[in-house]
Amino acid sequence: MATALRLADGGHRVRLLERRPFLGGRAYSFPETSWDVGVDNGQHALLGCYRETLGFLERIGAADRLHWLGLRVELREAGRRGVLDAGRTPAPFHLVRALGGYRLLSRAERLRAATGAVRLVVAWKRDPARLARETVTELLERLGQTEAIRRRLWDPIAIAALNVHPSRASAALFAVVVERAFFGRTRDAAIVLPAAPLADVFGGPGAAALGRAGVDVVARSTVQSVRVEESGRVVGVRTRAGASYDADAVVLALPPPAIARLDVGGRPASAVLGSWVGALQTSVPIVSVHVATEAPVALPAMVGLLGTTTQWVFHTDRFREGRRSRGSLLSCVVSDAGALEGWDDAAVIDRVGAELAALVPELGPLRGARFHVVRERHATMAATVEATAARPGVETPCPGLVLAGDWVRTGLPATLESAAASAGLVAGALDRLEPLGRPDLRRGEAA
Ligand SMILES: Cc1cc2nc3c(=O)[nH]c(=O)nc-3n(C[C@H](O)[C@H](O)[C@H](O)COP(=O)(O)OP(=O)(O)OC[C@H]3O[C@@H](n4cnc5c(N)ncnc54)[C@H](O)[C@@H]3O)c2cc1C
Repeated sequence: MATALRLADGGHRVRLLERRPFLGGRAYSFPETSWDVGVDNGQHALLGCYRETLGFLERIGAADRLHWLGLRVELREAGRRGVLDAGRTPAPFHLVRALGGYRLLSRAERLRAATGAVRLVVAWKRDPARLARETVTELLERLGQTEAIRRRLWDPIAIAALNVHPSRASAALFAVVVERAFFGRTRDAAIVLPAAPLADVFGGPGAAALGRAGVDVVARSTVQSVRVEESGRVVGVRTRAGASYDADAVVLALPPPAIARLDVGGRPASAVLGSWVGALQTSVPIVSVHVATEAPVALPAMVGLLGTTTQWVFHTDRFREGRRSRGSLLSCVVSDAGALEGWDDAAVIDRVGAELAALVPELGPLRGARFHVVRERHATMAATVEATAARPGVETPCPGLVLAGDWVRTGLPATLESAAASAGLVAGALDRLEPLGRPDLRRGEAA
């Protein structure tokens, strides 16, 4: 959506083909009829430093459907709690304030964590190539971050940001997150939550804005092949239903597993586009357990659980408008959820329910609560060291065929922000096509 809008705003004539009946991609919601609210496919959290995403939401008229929580997160482990709270402290002291009050770490550990954060950013600036070869755990160990500091501070941030355990996740991507979130303005570190079901923040307003911008959206239309003429130039796409569309340029804004299924000029995409197609086939699941309680509960907006399968509990009443008419809606998140593969819903609910009972006692007995498990098997690409190195730029060996999406080489983890950032890279790539003999591209068509 961000790419289509960006190109339309830049004067291109754009057609967007979408496999599903609605827009929004991996950030969507659906009505849970018996709960009288929309339920998200998974709780999405933005950061104040998501400038591209926030700009996109502004552009589609949905920026007011966000709740700015600030940097205020409670983390719990058996019998203990700590709160990371930056308040309104101006940068750079907001980080000191947030860490200074975090009681899950001793005073010495807090100091070590603060210096670790600074050293991390310095290490990133001095030798990005080294961080590109390291995992988050290797980097943090190198910077003297003890097991306790990692487990109680860095690991929950890394898993939330990268959706891969720190022992496998790319240190380079983590450094980017730390720098952008914690070493900018106080508002960059703010957690920003959708104040409405995702369909009313992304897909719905996005589709309306695309319509206003003149983008021709064709839903229920699965692209099956990219048409390439003899010279190697891309000339359009064909859909599974047999429809054929001509285009001066084609932007594949699909995740790598969907790209791998495409035929490009009569050959498998992997043979034409490069080895990254094969290298980026592993995706990482996120499992969400939505809990509709019988009675309203008193809980902060966002609580992190340590040492449990459940990593975060979002209390959506605190940030969502249009709540349930009775009770509360909680959203429990398990990122990097491969360990739950093969578990049936009852087993997942039992596990999450037991962890809530142990660490979130204010919920009381969850008698009468209803649960809804959502499994997103292909939530994000694996932000491992190897996969991160394999991410391609937006340009391909086929003139006129361009890539977009959260997984292309934006320098960011595979997030909403990366997807939105890829739009700018695509616009630049199409502009660079013009000198190659297609001066009329702006009046042409991008599909
Ligand atoms: C449960 C969950 C939680 C998440 N939490 C966060 C979070 O807290 N913060 C964050 O920033 N990000 C989060 N993400 C990641 C975020 O949703 C993605 O980074 C973002 O939506 C990716 O956008 P995209 O446009 O690159 O890809 P997608 O959203 O996947 O869009 C690709 C589109 O292409 C369509 N498509 C696929 N194949 C074809 C075809 N052959 N023809 C036509 N159309 C096709 C798909 O239907 C889809 O609509 C989360 C993701 C999940 C699943």
